[in-house]
Amino acid sequence: MNHRIENLNSAGLHEAECLFDPELHDGPTATIESEAARAARTDVARQVCSACPVQSACAALATRNRPTSGIWAGWTVPELAALPAETAVAA
Ligand code: SF4
Repeated sequence: MNHRIENLNSAGLHEAECLFDPELHDGPTATIESEAARAARTDVARQVCSACPVQSACAALATRNRPTSGIWAGWTVPELAALPAETAVAA
């Protein structure tokens, strides 16, 4: 099973918008993505996150687990990594 689907479902975040199209947030697995395509996909993924009903819980999950790929709660992995270690977002 896809790690995103597994992580969100095991956290009880069944209403996560990205469960409908995980590739939008994780990127393509079968093709190489250009920088421009990645930037455009990231923008759309951030928009989806901003309207997601479980965004705050997702932010808490992401700041706790620090995923190494994909867009989580509107953050890229480098953005997540730049957050202070003590950052804790209430669910
Ligand atoms: S906030 Fe974004 S990454 Fe988090 S569950 Fe919702 S759509 Fe997925």
